[in-house]
Amino acid sequence: MEHYIFGLDESELIEFENFKIHREVLPQLLKLKTEALKAGFDLQVTSCYRGFETQKKIWNNKAKGLRTLLDDQGRPLNFSELSPVEIMWSILRWSALPGASRHHWGTDLDVYDLKALPTKNYQVELTPQEVEGIFKPLHDWLSDRINQGSSFNFYRPYQDDLGGVAPEMWHLSYWPIAEKNLHALSLKKLKDFIEKQKELELKALVLDHLDEIYEQYVLNISPPPLAQV
Ligand SMILES: [Zn+2]
Repeated sequence: MEHYIFGLDESELIEFENFKIHREVLPQLLKLKTEALKAGFDLQVTSCYRGFETQKKIWNNKAKGLRTLLDDQGRPLNFSELSPVEIMWSILRWSALPGASRHHWGTDLDVYDLKALPTKNYQVELTPQEVEGIFKPLHDWLSDRINQGSSFNFYRPYQDDLGGVAPEMWHLSYWPIAEKNLHALSLKKLKDFIEKQKELELKALVLDHLDEIYEQYVLNISPPPLAQV
């Protein structure tokens, strides 16, 4: 469990198409895809499992200014004008702390509608603009299914802006397993884990603010709906 919640154990995962997913989540995803097809959508996954090393690379590149940082609304920031602590908070708005990403579990995935792409070469970005634009019909359909309790236990942990992670309508979570993982990831375990890391940028700052990071960016999610049958 320990290694698994930090994105370091893939034994519960299986490969599907070009991604890895928790073996108990795949059958549920396939049901959701089938229902989506009936409603006229080709629900595809851009990103599912992401291991610790991959997340660390994203984090470190952002911390070093090698990847664009965004403000609260998703506009690019000028890296050279930011203090280290500002850099840390702006990363956390859009990218999880390595070891504390829901993408480490294989239970969470980012989705889009392949049928809605305007051209074959269109690059899916997963932005609020797409959610309000080309992917709005898919998201309206997903909202209805989630509200009606017919989404096979997928829901949106980042549906609302709670002052932590930015709203990400495309991010679905299979909550029966994800909730267990969230409970298994205590502040103490996260702290011990981060302390052991050798090549994590902004590590000292992260440890200084870890209580706040854990409260605001890990626990602070939209609550899952009631169990579905
Ligand atoms: Zn996501």
